Amino acid sequence: MDILFFKYCNLKNRHLLLKLKNFKNIYHIKMVRDLIRICKKLRAFGFVEATSGNISMRKGSKVYITTAGSDFGEISKKDIALVDLNGKQIKGKPSSETRMHLEIYKVRDDCNAIIHTHPLFVILNSFKKYPLPILPEANFEWCYVKYLKPGSLELAKEVSKKAKRCDAIILERHGLVCLGRNLKEAFYKTEIMEKISKLGFLLSLSSF
Ligand SMILES: [Zn+2]
Repeated sequence: MDILFFKYCNLKNRHLLLKLKNFKNIYHIKMVRDLIRICKKLRAFGFVEATSGNISMRKGSKVYITTAGSDFGEISKKDIALVDLNGKQIKGKPSSETRMHLEIYKVRDDCNAIIHTHPLFVILNSFKKYPLPILPEANFEWCYVKYLKPGSLELAKEVSKKAKRCDAIILERHGLVCLGRNLKEAFYKTEIMEKISKLGFLLSLSSF
């Protein structure tokens, strides 16, 4: 009876270990799946074009990020790279803007997802700086960063400096970076920034 009981316990432990391993794998699969889903949405909404834009998610000391030159419209799991917080490549060739993502994660413990896009009206606003209307849903801080070479350390440092107090950073003559506790939150902020940029533009034209 005792032997049978111990055999049962060992079997149960093995199952638990296997479950833990599977859980890790399931988590990995879920992160990759979520990234792919949001990339496709960003492309469908017109927030990125061709191979522009990059998005990432942090899990512990690791960061999942889209690979260099990936087309969000046709993205698949092979287009998701993995790096550590120091930028060491673990899998795939990460985006050229990886440094910017990592610098932001270093200064924002509450941020676990970053979306960098090129929305049309946000870029227009970055040139013209017309006032952006305050709407109830735009309940987060945004700020501007002067033009710096994409992918440069200077840009990464400047954006992370602003990210200490802003959840949306408009990159002059370039695009937008939005931060969130998760991908959904970062996506909503991207949508809202484009909406208020569009609305601000239309208001600047109206004479009534
Ligand atoms: Zn860009």
